[in-house]
Amino acid sequence: MTFAYQLTEPGTQLSRTIVDRRPLGPRDVLLDLKFCGICHSDLVAASDRLGGGIFPMVPGHEMVGVITEMGAEVTGVEIGDAVGVGCIADSCRTCHSCDAGDEHYCETGFTLSFNSQDRAGHINYGGYASDYVVDYDYLVPIPEGADLARMAPLLCGGITVYTPLKRFNVGPGTTLCVLGVGGLGHLAIQFASAMGARVLVASRSKAKRADAERLGADVVLDPESDALQDWMGQCDLIIDTISNSHDLNKWFPLLRRGGKLCLLGVPTEQLEIFPALIVFGDRSLEGSLIGGIADTREMVAFAHEHGLGAEIELIQPEEIESAWHRLHEGDVQYRFVIDLGSLNKA
Ligand SMILES: [Zn+2]
Ligand SMILES: [Zn+2]
Repeated sequence: MTFAYQLTEPGTQLSRTIVDRRPLGPRDVLLDLKFCGICHSDLVAASDRLGGGIFPMVPGHEMVGVITEMGAEVTGVEIGDAVGVGCIADSCRTCHSCDAGDEHYCETGFTLSFNSQDRAGHINYGGYASDYVVDYDYLVPIPEGADLARMAPLLCGGITVYTPLKRFNVGPGTTLCVLGVGGLGHLAIQFASAMGARVLVASRSKAKRADAERLGADVVLDPESDALQDWMGQCDLIIDTISNSHDLNKWFPLLRRGGKLCLLGVPTEQLEIFPALIVFGDRSLEGSLIGGIADTREMVAFAHEHGLGAEIELIQPEEIESAWHRLHEGDVQYRFVIDLGSLNKA
């Protein structure tokens, strides 16, 4: 029996209920879920602001659990293994993007782990639940000894920041600026720092500047201060995690020739850019969406090896709604994770 927290209609009202998972197929594993991170896109899906919502909906796409059952064709994992599932639950496996390990750009559209239908037409209920069923090709092994709760937010937040760091060759000798010290930004600082880059963080909040320093940033400054001027033309990459409207023209001048500003947040308003900042500086504006399964596996292994993970506030399932409201207000240090241990008990 699958216990879950679901929405019957768009909004924020969740209730505890029982949902049906698809029967275990030969390639499927059944996970006893332990933790699920709360990602801002859960709220976006629940609001149905972008349309296409499937209700009733069980949100959650940063799941970590333990394998309790496996289909006959499953290989490479064992009963009892800790594994994660992120945004991607399936894809066509044959298109150019899938072949290249970029299942998130699957040309037929990838199957989201929640708020979607699987390829046979069953509704995919997400990870605010006691268990989950998924094809083993889309599992992300969690290394032994890892803190499962801190790993959960890596399945979406972690891969979202890891993909552009890898794609733009961040490492020793690279100077990187992280905009926004939140769920994504606090992970970007840790990953970039572990990769050996020089990390600059500009934040108006004194508390966030202190956190950035603790998380490994080499330079922290108040963007309203003159100190920002010293960094003009110094950065190879700006990782922009800000999800509301903001002025990109303020940040482009930080980039050296050939530098890139990569958007990870998706503001719903138009962003304006002075073309001269791009043309004369040989700079570019980039965007990046989560990441493929192979990269997600690599990212989790890298995080474990370097002892990094999300900073979390652990909550009980009955606290999800209030956590959503706090997340909406930006009041979280830095990711809510639901402890699903109590959900199993009827
Ligand atoms: Zn997410
Ligand atoms: Zn595909």
